[in-house]
Amino acid sequence: MKAVCWHGASDVRVETVPDPKILNPRDAILKVTATTICGSDLHIYDGYIPSMQAGDIMGHEFMGEVVEVGSAVRKLKRGDRVVVSSIIGCGQCHFCSQQQWSLCDNSNPNGWMQEPLFGYSTSGIFGYSHLFGGYAGSFAEYIRIPFADHGAIRVPSEIPDEKILPLSDAFPTGYMGADFCNIQPGQTVAVWGAGPVGQFAMLSARMMGAERVFAIDRVPERLVLAQEFAKAEPINYEEVDAGEALKELTGGRGPDACIDAVGLEAHGMGLEGFYDRAKQAVRLETDRPHVLRQMMVACRKGGTLSVMGVYSGFIDKVPMGAAFNKGLTIRMGQMYGQKYIPKLVEMVERGEVDPAQVFTHQLPLEQTKQGFEMFKHKQDKCIKVLLKP
Ligand SMILES: [Zn+2]
Ligand SMILES: [Zn+2]
Repeated sequence: MKAVCWHGASDVRVETVPDPKILNPRDAILKVTATTICGSDLHIYDGYIPSMQAGDIMGHEFMGEVVEVGSAVRKLKRGDRVVVSSIIGCGQCHFCSQQQWSLCDNSNPNGWMQEPLFGYSTSGIFGYSHLFGGYAGSFAEYIRIPFADHGAIRVPSEIPDEKILPLSDAFPTGYMGADFCNIQPGQTVAVWGAGPVGQFAMLSARMMGAERVFAIDRVPERLVLAQEFAKAEPINYEEVDAGEALKELTGGRGPDACIDAVGLEAHGMGLEGFYDRAKQAVRLETDRPHVLRQMMVACRKGGTLSVMGVYSGFIDKVPMGAAFNKGLTIRMGQMYGQKYIPKLVEMVERGEVDPAQVFTHQLPLEQTKQGFEMFKHKQDKCIKVLLKP
């Protein structure tokens, strides 16, 4: 089959690789009908995620048609159309039973690699390095789905791919980001990053009762989409100081909750941004925590920070004093896809939300490299690229 393989920073190639096979009785094989580049794929593309190996197939946000099931698969059959959680969960361990799917004890065969770094291992993720299980990703014609009864969620055939595809990752991630904020009616929520996850976080915050939502970004078309999609109020951090603007817009109190939908490659401004870029370049710091720092200072006293942008290693110069003395609650993590996706499918079915609005481009799988460049540099007003195998 055709697949997009990683060969180093900014080096992805379309290659012919062996078709996936059923390896365990609970596996299914899926024909991928649509997949998409996620912001966190950019961290791999840019070489910031350790333990990638040349030839690894990338991609973790996808949907398709079941073509084969293992002997222990109960809920799925050949021909089913499904969307698949980017997070792999066994459905039986302590954490999966608590609906904390990305903390699964059994889905990461390379847990030993994580333990020295994280203390305990987390779940596997499709196409997301050997640290996260070394699973083949979705930028391919076919993919193997482990624990398929839990990860693959059936979707109605009449809804087009582009409305369902973001439910694999971007939408549940944004939804969880808002859910973590425990939003009360009338509250204000500030979201850093108006990319796809940020858009879904803003929309979800609104659905959960937020009265005002602020979108912080520097790309004009992403701020425009935030206004249309989530009725958010735009703050362009290249034009104004985001912290000062938020203080003013909230009557001097600060937003009740702040969501980080950016993560480890944040563009810091001024001296502090330079410091992080320099340290990251020589690997003295793996992640650039600019958004985290700003949120800790900008959030109101007693507020909540919800971190959905991916961090992978170490950060520096975090204003812990601000977070501690202001009594902030900090919640974070890879998304609990299997917990949220069924609910989101129902919302799309009822026509309450149209996730397709985040897609600006569609390309054949052969042009994945162009897709990455376009997405990374926000060329041609690119917000999200759908790839067709
Ligand atoms: Zn993702
Ligand atoms: Zn589990």
